[in-house]
Amino acid sequence: MTSNASLVSKNPQEFIAFLQQNNIKRFSLVFDKKANKVNVSDTKLQPLADFINADERDFMQHEGMLFQLSEKYDVLFGAFVHKTNRGQASGGLRFWQYATMEDFLRDGMRLSKGMTRKNALANLWWGGGKGIMVHNPKNDKNDLTMREELYKDYGRFITSIKGCYITAEDVGTCEEDMANVFSQTRFTTCIPASVGGSGNPSSATALGVVHGMEAALKFLDMGTLEGKTVAVQGMGHVAEPMMGYLFERKVAKIIAVDINQDLIDEVKSKYADKNLDARLVDMKDNSILFEECDILAACATGAILNDESIPQIKAKIICGASNNQLKDSKVHGQAIAERGITYVPDFLVNRMGIVNCADEQSGYIDNDPYFYRHLDQNYEYSVFQTTLHVLNQSKVTDTPPADVAIKLADELALENNPIYGHRGEKIVESLVKNGWSK
Ligand code: NAD
Repeated sequence: MTSNASLVSKNPQEFIAFLQQNNIKRFSLVFDKKANKVNVSDTKLQPLADFINADERDFMQHEGMLFQLSEKYDVLFGAFVHKTNRGQASGGLRFWQYATMEDFLRDGMRLSKGMTRKNALANLWWGGGKGIMVHNPKNDKNDLTMREELYKDYGRFITSIKGCYITAEDVGTCEEDMANVFSQTRFTTCIPASVGGSGNPSSATALGVVHGMEAALKFLDMGTLEGKTVAVQGMGHVAEPMMGYLFERKVAKIIAVDINQDLIDEVKSKYADKNLDARLVDMKDNSILFEECDILAACATGAILNDESIPQIKAKIICGASNNQLKDSKVHGQAIAERGITYVPDFLVNRMGIVNCADEQSGYIDNDPYFYRHLDQNYEYSVFQTTLHVLNQSKVTDTPPADVAIKLADELALENNPIYGHRGEKIVESLVKNGWSK
């Protein structure tokens, strides 16, 4: 008998060994609405279901969580299906390392729930989901042969779950990886343009974040971005083009940091004639968050808005691309509001990545109106209008913006897709009925 705590607190490698000892290649954790609890496909894994059933933080009646062991390399695959009223679960595939199974499950639940909210607020007919491949530290992530085989294997896993989750690119995954996924499944987006896809979404994400900043400035009656100072954490795929959009809008100065000197040199040379103060920091150095600036844009990692950082922030606006910036959305959303800082919820402004690939299967039109309306300040569900609406509601109701955005998103997430109803949930049901995990 394995205790709840011991199975959930195992690191993923120990957990994989447990699966192998018990001859388990696939398993599922599926929500039973009538019984109001999660059922696990194999009783040996009951502690995982017990852990989720007892959780009140990250579990929100996720419709299904499906897992498979890779054919080679001892890597665990996951597909987290949160809510599919608006359409099949959609969200990126993360290739990441976790200390424990609890961390892995929590990240998948949190990220898939975040995608439900992001897609609903963007008025997309997609549900919310997330894919995760758990990096095994014994493997070299940069081994191209291994990557190709792993992503192809993940593609076959996605085919097996029959479209309840449609995958895409996310942290740790690149366009080439997506091409490998695509070679094995049609249930994917964010594939390279050479095979009919929309390619890397980061520049679109960057532009959406800039529109969010513009809405926050308007809300505060602070004018435009011209002459403003922006502090940026991270100089990667989103931050680099974002700086370009900010310089185009004549910001006075950008202060930016990264942990990668080569990247800093590259970005510095790109913006050599601009007022860019770029610095190398180490992983634990969060001093960029405390710079004197108008806007702070977190574009590296999550959970950076917490008990330690919030009291020291000097920016008037926080608006960036990173997912899950608030360590605890309730506590820290309130703490930021109490400091009089305007926080623009991440899942409201970093939507353009998913918008960029949302209509990939529906063909392309020059200057696609279904894409550009999200950047049209007159469109009700544009990044600008939604941000303004959330900030105004926050002021009127004296409620932190994240809480307003979550409430609005959760209402929208319950709308059923006008053509396909709540199909994702039915796909999960049929997988269970047909013994997918066997
Ligand atoms: P990226 O990996 O290209 O860039 C992140 C950068 O942050 C890297 O250059 C990394 O070296 C740096 N970094 C990491 N830790 C740091 C630290 N402690 N201090 C300073 N720099 C640090 O990722 P990205 O695609 O630019 O995405 C950035 C964030 O935005 C991520 O949280 C991602 O989940 C989120 N996001 C991205 C997209 C997209 O379209 N790429 C869409 C939605 C959300």
